[in-house]
Amino acid sequence: MYMKKRDEEVALLKKLWREEPVTCPKCGEATLQFLHKKAKKSNCDWKCPACGEIYRTIGMLKDLPN
Ligand SMILES: [Zn+2]
Repeated sequence: MYMKKRDEEVALLKKLWREEPVTCPKCGEATLQFLHKKAKKSNCDWKCPACGEIYRTIGMLKDLPN
């Protein structure tokens, strides 16, 4: 998880899926961008242009604690 609480992680995921601007939770330096800019647009995978962290929302969802 990138956030401290499950609720915050879920809120982060929802923002990404709605394609709202999200500041990188890891470094706080940049807004996340689509991982695949040229390929078919997908809002599942995101990347921080500042620190290079990759956010895969499907994996994040799977890793959520119950
Ligand atoms: Zn970052």
